[in-house]
Amino acid sequence: MMSDGQLPSNVHVLKPRTMSMSDRVDRFLEEHALAPSEKPIRRDPTRPNAPGINAFRCACCEQMEYLTRDYCRCGHYLRGQLEDEFLAWEGQIAEEHKHLAETLELKLKKVRYFSLLGLPFIAVPLLFWAFPSESLSLTPLVWVAIGIAIMGVCAVVEQRLLKPVGLSQHFLATYTIETFLEQRAFRMLEE
Ligand SMILES: [Zn+2]
Repeated sequence: MMSDGQLPSNVHVLKPRTMSMSDRVDRFLEEHALAPSEKPIRRDPTRPNAPGINAFRCACCEQMEYLTRDYCRCGHYLRGQLEDEFLAWEGQIAEEHKHLAETLELKLKKVRYFSLLGLPFIAVPLLFWAFPSESLSLTPLVWVAIGIAIMGVCAVVEQRLLKPVGLSQHFLATYTIETFLEQRAFRMLEE
């Protein structure tokens, strides 16, 4: 039995994923606060530098506002806007992954068909050896070599094609709100 004042023993293993969105935004900004933006344009000194990692355009008044603020000075709920953007981004990366996986499926099909072309080169010499004739020839071995080469090239191509989808799968499995904030900040600096 656990006494009233005692914390559960697993309290220390709580993952940062369980932190609230605001806390995670705050922590992200704390960690990146010193990263200077390339070309800060600050027209209103009470507004954040734009473009910048700390800046966020209010969808209501279109002014730049600090990312740490829950509400814009016009009263718009910025945290909700950020959550919407995060959800949209989640949908977009899932969609991109799906597209990538579907394109890969088509390419793999072609590679596998091509790979089948290597089979006769291996199968025909087997017939030669199954019904041996008097004339010993190196030709069947050459055929086998060609067959193996075709299938080998296809296997290498298949591995290369699989790589980006594997990376994308890994990204989908590991992204967090920080990933979204980072990508968002990069986009802002590029604009
Ligand atoms: Zn506003």
